[in-house]
Amino acid sequence: MEDCIFCKIAAGEMDTKLLHEDELVVAFADISPMAPVHALVVPKKHIVSVEEAGPEDRDLLGHMIHTAQKLARDLGVSESGYRLVINNGAGAGQTVSHLHLHLLGGRALEPRLG
Ligand code: 5GP
Ligand code: ZN
Repeated sequence: MEDCIFCKIAAGEMDTKLLHEDELVVAFADISPMAPVHALVVPKKHIVSVEEAGPEDRDLLGHMIHTAQKLARDLGVSESGYRLVINNGAGAGQTVSHLHLHLLGGRALEPRLG
């Protein structure tokens, strides 16, 4: 989709180092990290949010979590623990209107959310 920053990154149009790429998703470090490990898993397909995902996206949504699991291992936080977050909608803090999964780790994360 035009003017979507994550579509551009997924298409290789930005100077963003990818941590992972396959036919369905890309992953890269968050530009403004909230933890020592903060990566984003982004589908190549432009889906605005979880709310906009359909039944046809079921395998893709599962693949995003599997990719995060692999990344957590690659980035050395699978033992220490990590958090996966998807913000859905502006009211929940979503700022980029292209679905993405945050992988956070490398420090103690507060038990409470929100
Ligand atoms: P949201 O708040 O929508 O859940 O998360 C969007 C995330 O994308 C934020 O953590 C923000 O730092 C990150 N981000 C926004 N633009 C870029 C960019 O151009 N490159 C990278 N690597 N991360 C970005
Ligand atoms: Zn997009």
